[in-house]
Amino acid sequence: MVSNLQARDAATVLHPYSNLATLPSQGSLILERGEGVFVYDVDGKPYIEGMAGLWCNGLGHGREELVEAAAEQMRRLPFAHLFTGKSHDPAIALAEKLKELAPMKAAKVFFCNSGSEANDTQVKLVWYVNNALGRPQKKKIISRIKAYHGVTVASASLTGLPNNHIDFDLPLPQVRHAGCPHHYRFAAPGETEEDFATRLAAELDALIEAEGPETVAAFIAEPIMGAGGVIVPPATYFEKIQPVLEKHDVMLIADEVICGFGRLGEWFGSTALGMKPDTVSVAKQLSSSYLPIAGVIIPDWIDEALTSQSAKIGTFGHGYTYSGHPVAAAVALKTLEIYEREDILGHVRRITPHFQARLKALGEHPLIGEARGMGLIGAVEIVADKASKRLFDPKTGMGTKIVGLAQEEGLIVRAIGDGIAVCPPMVITEAEIDALFDRLGRALDRAE
Ligand code: PLP
Repeated sequence: MVSNLQARDAATVLHPYSNLATLPSQGSLILERGEGVFVYDVDGKPYIEGMAGLWCNGLGHGREELVEAAAEQMRRLPFAHLFTGKSHDPAIALAEKLKELAPMKAAKVFFCNSGSEANDTQVKLVWYVNNALGRPQKKKIISRIKAYHGVTVASASLTGLPNNHIDFDLPLPQVRHAGCPHHYRFAAPGETEEDFATRLAAELDALIEAEGPETVAAFIAEPIMGAGGVIVPPATYFEKIQPVLEKHDVMLIADEVICGFGRLGEWFGSTALGMKPDTVSVAKQLSSSYLPIAGVIIPDWIDEALTSQSAKIGTFGHGYTYSGHPVAAAVALKTLEIYEREDILGHVRRITPHFQARLKALGEHPLIGEARGMGLIGAVEIVADKASKRLFDPKTGMGTKIVGLAQEEGLIVRAIGDGIAVCPPMVITEAEIDALFDRLGRALDRAE
């Protein structure tokens, strides 16, 4: 039985990323407030937010300092833009801070509002800069199967998941998808992680050779794939991919939208995974999701190419009304200040062993083929048969069923691909981690 509010929701809100056919009869979980790692529905029932919203609410709910930072900025200057001849101090200070933290030698930051816009901007910069550098044929971008980079036309093309392409007439013709670095699913029988990484690097090399290195501009990668299934690459993966990119003069774009700002106990996942990116996309935990803000961090050589192009043709014709929105920028600055003051990265490093131990213990469950993760992010892969790794028929809706049972147990998690993802606010305590996995364990037991 759906409530009146659920019926009104289904009748009026076109829900992103939802099964639009089943939603009206199932009804949405309608949330009203949050405190720390807990959220409460309209009936007052508490849930552990096991997904930090959508991998983004690093500090949890109820941070008065962030509310104050927004209110103070709204009182002072609620809006100003960064187009021709204008700027404001929150955007300047945030760009300076991001430059300081960046996992490479950074020159400047281009601000946007979402991870999708950041990766869309990356694509446009790759094309624009290669035109500016006089190599207009160097335009292809290689992403990976199961990657998630967003849903705008270009970023959805980079995404390597069928639901983001089918019937949207995507991907764009300039995009290719290389192999997915998931050892459990895609390694050959007996292949070690290192051998698997060697093979993926060789396949990437062959793909670039087949396309023609002069036509391939960039390779984009999340340090750990998030929405594609929380896929931690095999040992030595980026170490082996990197020289292939260098050999063919292909730039590396790090999509740090999930891994950035502490999720793996470092400011950036690139550092944790040994990636040496040319450019970086950031969003989500940049503001702990209290307001939407995202960015693309660029190095000197891209900045110089853009500037020299302006010297020739005038305006750099890209930018959003809300690029660097002052209120969002003020909240992001305050978020970064809290991460530093409260040593959130240190906290993540300290509680990671407990989180990962509880996660990996679920690997023993009859329904779980693999429990995987790193830092404060993980997933369990649901299988119908552990020995053969056979998946359930998607029609059984096993993932959705487990998410529903977890909700009954007072836990929010997310069905992704063939698994269930867990990515709690980074401020979670050990006792809360125990409660999270106790509840998930009970949901799995009930699903059997
Ligand atoms: N990149 C990654 C790695 C993401 O996980 C996401 C969203 O989950 C995006 C990009 C897209 O971000 P947004 O939903 O803010 O457009």
